Amino acid sequence: MDKMLLSQYNPSSELIVEEHLLTKPKFPAYDIHTHMGKLLPGKGYQQMYKVADFAKIMEDLGIYHWNNLDGVWGKDLDDMIAHEKGFEDKITNFCWVDTESISDIDFASKAKANLKDAYAKGCRGIKMWKVITLGQKDASGKYIRTDDERLKPVYETAAELGMPILIHIADPYAFFKPITADNERIEELGVHPDWSFYKPELGLYGFEELMEMQDNMIRNNPDTTFIVAHFGSYAENLAHVAERLDAFPNMYVDTAARIAELGRQPYTARKFFLKYADRILFGTDAYPFECIYHTASYRFFETFDEYFPYEPTGKIPTQGRWRIYGIGLPDDVLKKIYFENAERLMHLK
Ligand SMILES: [Zn+2]
Repeated sequence: MDKMLLSQYNPSSELIVEEHLLTKPKFPAYDIHTHMGKLLPGKGYQQMYKVADFAKIMEDLGIYHWNNLDGVWGKDLDDMIAHEKGFEDKITNFCWVDTESISDIDFASKAKANLKDAYAKGCRGIKMWKVITLGQKDASGKYIRTDDERLKPVYETAAELGMPILIHIADPYAFFKPITADNERIEELGVHPDWSFYKPELGLYGFEELMEMQDNMIRNNPDTTFIVAHFGSYAENLAHVAERLDAFPNMYVDTAARIAELGRQPYTARKFFLKYADRILFGTDAYPFECIYHTASYRFFETFDEYFPYEPTGKIPTQGRWRIYGIGLPDDVLKKIYFENAERLMHLK
């Protein structure tokens, strides 16, 4: 054999070990992190799918309730609520904050009013996402920081209303590094070059700066509950996340789209899950056309299976060329992660 493109290389494993393929979680689960609208699947989502069809998929996956993080605000929120009619007992919306208007003189009062209006309409949390720090600029031309004083009224109103803030602030560490042959996400960045934040010409915040502002935000707002998406932004470094959970009692993490990272460090991950069982929430990043992380998550949490794909699609894995290992969690921990922590933070019980 002469040469082959990396994209053509897709070996099948000949390893023969015990397998436990799970289609449902051991206990009905609350998925804290899904998208049903403007972010994913995108504009015009109402015509793209039926909520009943998505609900059937989620039900078959053992999900009894989920958060839709695409609630937005105002008219967009009204449209979303109309779209979800009949499924209010299964879906909770998280609204957004209009951070693009952060430099307006009336930003604080408008943001507060929007949050109160969203709460009155049934939203029970707030979603803040990475465009705030990695795309939007204020009137002075500076990228917005999450520890910006101007956002204080948002954090205070969230605390007042008992709305947790689910925040996605960074992305995998490798997305902040040059796209070179030693970048472990090179194939993924090849498919999505726009996911790379290594763009020196744009003057974006680096990963460390984002972590610093994440720390400041959580520390400076102790009465606000923060669920930091994608395992506290840093699933590649669980010691970093553990240090934060020790320091900040108001911080939680979700597992959305990070099973690949967690499952390649099963010894470290298992210890982490046992120690921080009260602080981890099950989430997937599912949307109506893609629910690939549910069954891999169940297998990862519940079994000691070895070297299995984190995306059971049969295709080349998108997040990197490795496989994962289960961490066989005990029932009491599974219950906390699957639903107890979510029910507590969402004030369901
Ligand atoms: Zn997401």
